[in-house]
Amino acid sequence: MTTNVTRLREIVGEDWVITRREQMESYLVDETALAVRPEPAKNVVLVKPASAAEIAGILKLANGEQTPVFIRGGGTGICGGAVPTADGILLSTERLDKIEEVDRDNLMVVVESGVPFGAMLKAVEDAGLFFPPHPGAENAHVGGLVALNAGGVRAIKYGVIRNFVKGLEVVVPTGEILTLGGKLLKNNQGLDLLHLMINSGGILGVITKVIFRLCPRFSHSGTLIVSYDNRHDAIDSVPKILQSGVIPLAIEFIERDVVEMSATHLGMKWPATKGQAYLLVILTGDSEDEVYAQGEKVSGICEQNGCTDILIAERREEQAAILKIRSEVYPSLKKNVADVLDITVPPASIGIMMDRVDEIARRYDTTIPTYGHAGDGNLHPHVMNDLAERGLLREVKREIYQEAIRLGGVITGEHGLGTVRLPDLDLYPDGKTWELMRGIKNVFDPNHILNPGIGLY
Ligand SMILES: Cc1cc2nc3c(=O)[nH]c(=O)nc-3n(C[C@H](O)[C@H](O)[C@H](O)COP(=O)(O)OP(=O)(O)OC[C@H]3O[C@@H](n4cnc5c(N)ncnc54)[C@H](O)[C@@H]3O)c2cc1C
Repeated sequence: MTTNVTRLREIVGEDWVITRREQMESYLVDETALAVRPEPAKNVVLVKPASAAEIAGILKLANGEQTPVFIRGGGTGICGGAVPTADGILLSTERLDKIEEVDRDNLMVVVESGVPFGAMLKAVEDAGLFFPPHPGAENAHVGGLVALNAGGVRAIKYGVIRNFVKGLEVVVPTGEILTLGGKLLKNNQGLDLLHLMINSGGILGVITKVIFRLCPRFSHSGTLIVSYDNRHDAIDSVPKILQSGVIPLAIEFIERDVVEMSATHLGMKWPATKGQAYLLVILTGDSEDEVYAQGEKVSGICEQNGCTDILIAERREEQAAILKIRSEVYPSLKKNVADVLDITVPPASIGIMMDRVDEIARRYDTTIPTYGHAGDGNLHPHVMNDLAERGLLREVKREIYQEAIRLGGVITGEHGLGTVRLPDLDLYPDGKTWELMRGIKNVFDPNHILNPGIGLY
């Protein structure tokens, strides 16, 4: 072990430095599928600091020793970003767990970065307010959500996590503590380091505190499950809904076999009985009439596009159950999944992209269950273990990536690069872009101690 464990104990306290492997096993993995998850290194010291000052002390020590430091939030990432792949320090943010303030006057919440997302949502809701983005894993930490600029189902109306971050406290690898932004709606003070930190994947600093903007709570909502006999009719309805002037909170696309698997996995029942493909449309408004009017408009469009049935859930618990089934698709498929892809194409190209994924699946004699955020062009093709067993995983993934790029898309829309996406970034020939990113990394982290081998091509 290269790091000074005695010094680490002085910084965070005896109880918060763990060196025994058997006491840290669950910290050495994340939610990445087994076939692509990186191997954790052999000699790892797990530290659990409780403040930005303690983190500054750890980073100063590590920077002096040139010891790698890996950051771990909730461990729900699915591209291998939280796994310590070199001997060194694994820094868990779990003790930074205070919800400091829900500020109703400024419509902001101030949270430490190790607060689980679900706990923050509850505090905001208890204050009668609303945090719009909803990435599916409520056990993710808010720091991890910012570090990866998570998206989720509600991005269509309100945007992704980035759109709600107003302030950050960050400890940079050389040990200084930065305060970026604040409870401010306007801020033009120099280059925007706040937004540089969002989606930096833990390569520029450890996020220790976040200020998010909040919204007033809508008073009414309704969730439509629109059933179709085929996927094309479902997907073709999406641009028409958006052109109609109704902007739903979410429009998700999912197929019957996949969503039923998720419901069974949870011991729940998917409410729709007809159709093979579904749009899940969540509508919100300030009155029952407003939601009803939007529902009428959306229903009319879907009927003109060949839907076979429409279910409307109005009770909160019913709507929450539907969202839960949609959000838990990955865990239900996980044991057979070799990798969950995260491609994003221009929204109007989503149908073409899905056809191309199907065509690739046929050619390789496999199935690639694909579902996603139909309103914003972000799709999650699930590449299955049979391809890994036949040695074809990389080849198939690259074919899918190439199709997405041909359509003007990217290989990750919300999950980030982690370790898993890095080998395929050569598909983007723009060398100068990567060179500039590496230059930024050098400025923040001259010794490359933070998350080495992760998130940077
Ligand atoms: C069931 C399920 C559903 C999901 N649904 C969605 C979804 O809808 N949309 C979506 O975008 N993602 C989704 N995800 C992926 C995952 O929840 C997100 O990527 C989330 O942002 C990860 O947060 P975390 O705290 O678990 O981070 P971790 O997995 O712990 O870490 C992820 C990366 O962020 C870095 N990091 C973590 N905390 C910090 C910090 N404080 N400072 C700096 N760097 C840090 C880590 O080093 C690592 O590289 C889902 C995952 C699961 C398992």
